[in-house]
Amino acid sequence: MAIQSDYLIIGSGIAGLSFALKAARKGRVTIVTKKGMMDASTNYAQGGIASVLDPNDSFDLHIKDTLESGAGLSKEKVVRMVVENGPDMIQGLISLGVNFSHNKTQTDRLDLTREGGHSRRRIVHTEDLTGQEVERALIHSVEKNNNIQICENHMVIDLITTSKFIRRSLSTNETEETCWGAYVLDVLTGEVTAFLSRITVLATGGAGKVYLYTTNPDIATGDGVAIGYRAGAKVANMEFVQFHPTCLHHAMEKNFLISESVRGEGGRLIDKKGNHFMEHYHPLKDLALRDVVARSIDAELKKSGDECVYLDISHRPQDFIKPRFPHIYKRCLELGIDITKEPIPVVPAAHYMCGGILTDTQGRTTITNLYAIGEVACTGLHGANRLASNSLIEALVFARFAFEDSATMITGNNNYQIPDVPLWDTGSATDSDESVVVSHNWDEVRRMMWNYVGIVRTNKRLLRAMRRIEIIQQEIKDYYWDFIITRDLLELRNLAAVSELIITSATMRKESRGLHYNLDYPERDDKNWRHDTII
Ligand SMILES: Cc1cc2nc3c(=O)[nH]c(=O)nc-3n(C[C@H](O)[C@H](O)[C@H](O)COP(=O)(O)OP(=O)(O)OC[C@H]3O[C@@H](n4cnc5c(N)ncnc54)[C@H](O)[C@@H]3O)c2cc1C
Repeated sequence: MAIQSDYLIIGSGIAGLSFALKAARKGRVTIVTKKGMMDASTNYAQGGIASVLDPNDSFDLHIKDTLESGAGLSKEKVVRMVVENGPDMIQGLISLGVNFSHNKTQTDRLDLTREGGHSRRRIVHTEDLTGQEVERALIHSVEKNNNIQICENHMVIDLITTSKFIRRSLSTNETEETCWGAYVLDVLTGEVTAFLSRITVLATGGAGKVYLYTTNPDIATGDGVAIGYRAGAKVANMEFVQFHPTCLHHAMEKNFLISESVRGEGGRLIDKKGNHFMEHYHPLKDLALRDVVARSIDAELKKSGDECVYLDISHRPQDFIKPRFPHIYKRCLELGIDITKEPIPVVPAAHYMCGGILTDTQGRTTITNLYAIGEVACTGLHGANRLASNSLIEALVFARFAFEDSATMITGNNNYQIPDVPLWDTGSATDSDESVVVSHNWDEVRRMMWNYVGIVRTNKRLLRAMRRIEIIQQEIKDYYWDFIITRDLLELRNLAAVSELIITSATMRKESRGLHYNLDYPERDDKNWRHDTII
C-alpha cells in the first residue's frame, strides 16, 4: 500500500508547517513527523526572531551583523534576501495569530530585545517562550486546513529516489536523480509504507543529540542530513556546530537553555568566586558572539577545573526579571535557584547546526524535486557561525521561496505520474533481544563527539574520533540488516552518519574559523579556506 500526495513534508517545526500552509493552496499536502506535532526545536526557542522593525535600525546593519558573524562564509545575496523579507514574515505570523510581546511604554509597538552580535535591538519575542507561541499558532492553522493530512509518530527511514529504489524495480528511462517521496515507519505499529509525492521537503531540524550535552530536544538526531546524504544530496559545512554558552547546569535538568537575551538585558558571566571574566577575552564582553563566549567559558573551566560558571542577572529589579523571563524564572525556581537573588550555574552545550543539506536560494537540493528548509539546510545564511535569532527567520523565508519555486512545477505539470515503487522488504530481519547494543552505541557516539569533536578540536582528537566512528558505523550496519527497525535504531544510524560527516568536514578544514576551532591550525586562513566544505 502507498500513500500519495502532491507535497510530502517531513517535519512539523516552523519550516515544515509554514511551508505546508502555503502548499495547501496548490495541492494535497501530507506532513509526517516522528513524534507529536509539538516535538520540534521550534517549540523550545526562547529568545525570538531577528527582524528590522525599529526606525533606528536598517537592513544594511542587520546584513552587516550577519556577515560579520558568518566569518567570511555567509553568502551576501542570501543574507540580503532573508533580512529584507524579515518584516513581511513577522507580519505573516501576526496575521496567523501569533501574540508577540509589546513594548511596555509604547504599547502599540512590538518589544524588541537584543542578543550577542546584534548592533541594534531587533529581536521580536513572546516573553521567553517565542517558539512555543509560534508553533501553537502554526499548528492551529494547519489542523484547520482540509488539504493537509497530518501523520504523527511517522518516521522517515529513507528517500525514494530514481537510482536507489525506482530504476531497480522498474527500469524507467529517467537519468536525472529525482525524489519521489519516502519510506516511512509507523512508530506505533511497526509498519513501513511508501509515501509518494511530486515534491518532497526535508524540514527535519538539527542534530544537537550528536553531542552529550545539548539544548536540543530528543528529536534532533540529524535525520534529514543523514537521509539526504544517503540519497546522494550534497552536504555542506558540517564542521560548524554552534555551542550555546549558557545551558543550565543542574542534575535534574539536562537540556534547559538560559536564553542569550538574559545577557542582552544585562546578565553577566562570573566564575565561582564571583569574578567577571569576559573582559579578558573580548571587547564586547558578555555580548561577544556565541563562539567567543562558549570558548571563553571552556577555557575558564579547563583552567579552574570547575564544573560550571555562573550567569548573574540578580542586580536587575525583580519586577523586571519576572515578567521578562517568566519561563526561565519559573523553571529555575522549581530547581531551587531564585534568579532574582542568585547567579545561575551554566555550561556550554551543542545548540545549532550551521551546516546541512546544501541548497540554492530557492531551497532546492542537488536532487530534483527534493527541497530542504530550516535547520536541516545549509543555505549560505549562517556561514561559519549563526547570528542569534537568525534561524527562525531563515526557516520562514526559505519556506516561502521553496514553496514559490515548487509551485511552478505543480502548476506547469499537472499530468505527472509518480512511478511505482517496490514495497518495503524486511528480508529475514527478526525482533532483537539485544537493544542494549543500540543504547550503548548511542551513548558512545555522543560522548566521543563531546570529548573529541567539541568546542576546541585538535588533529589527534579528530583522528581518534574518525577511527571510532568507522567501527561504530560498521556495527550499526550489521545490526541494521539483521533486526526489525525501530525508531531508536534509525536514530542511532542517522546520528552516527551525521557524526561522521562532522568529523570529516572538521578534518578537511585546516584552519580555525567561526565555530570551528582547531588548536593545530589556530588562525583563520582566508587565502586557502574561504569556501564551503562540501561533501
Ligand atoms: C532551546 C532552543 C532555543 C532556541 N532559540 C532560538 C531563538 O530564540 N531564535 C531562533 O531564531 N532560533 C532559536 N533556536 C533554533 C531554532 O529553534 C531552530 O533552528 C528551528 O526551530 C528549527 O526549525 P525547523 O523547522 O527546521 O526544525 P524543528 O523545529 O526542529 O522541527 C523538526 C521536525 O522534524 C521532525 N523529524 C525529524 N526527523 C524526522 C524523521 N526522520 N521523520 C519524520 N519527522 C522527523 C521532528 O520531529 C520535528 O517535528 C533555538 C533552539 C533551541 C533548541
